[in-house]
Amino acid sequence: MAKQGIRRRGQQQVEDVSGNGRPADLGVLQSLVTEMLLALGEKPGRNGLLKTPERVAKALAFMTQGYHRDIDHLLNGALFPIEYDEMVIVKDIDFFSMCEHHLLPFYGKVHVGYLPNKKVVGLSKIPRIVDTFARRLQVQERFTVQIAETLKSKLNAHGVGVVVEARHLCMMMRGVEKQNTIAVSSSMLGAFRSQPQTRLEFLKLIRRGSVGDSD
Ligand SMILES: [Zn+2]
Repeated sequence: MAKQGIRRRGQQQVEDVSGNGRPADLGVLQSLVTEMLLALGEKPGRNGLLKTPERVAKALAFMTQGYHRDIDHLLNGALFPIEYDEMVIVKDIDFFSMCEHHLLPFYGKVHVGYLPNKKVVGLSKIPRIVDTFARRLQVQERFTVQIAETLKSKLNAHGVGVVVEARHLCMMMRGVEKQNTIAVSSSMLGAFRSQPQTRLEFLKLIRRGSVGDSD
């Protein structure tokens, strides 16, 4: 299985993709989809396509709803004080996102680890944070860093590690047509960045049974 590494350790400036706070405009999207069908040489009036603009508009609105989700609201009441300082890991979180360069899906798994600092977050909230950032137009590197930085700041954690393994349809269906390539990106913050031991423990714990492993 070919793996392509994208190394990111939280160094770069993260582009603001918070959106404009308005829900998607379904009416405008529908007429644009009709235009697109025409431009592609299709007949938007034929039976099979009659409801397509409406369906596509709704699908796009769903897949980009992360612009309108508020992380603080999502975490409200889900942070618990605790005297626990061992690593917490949530791995194999499925996600589906869309690349902002081609508006085609990329999807795969996210693995998250953190070292608590007097508080932990309800485990079910971590996949919801992942979804919030996945349901926007994204690039994999930024997606990875956003999850890591959000957890680091909201939990005030001693350290956070995030690894994302993804397949990109824009690579698989067009261009290089590399069907088996998995892009891997990581963001290591705090102790995960400064202590090789911590980072290694995390990488070891998420490794078994991850995407692309044959065992
Ligand atoms: Zn792309």
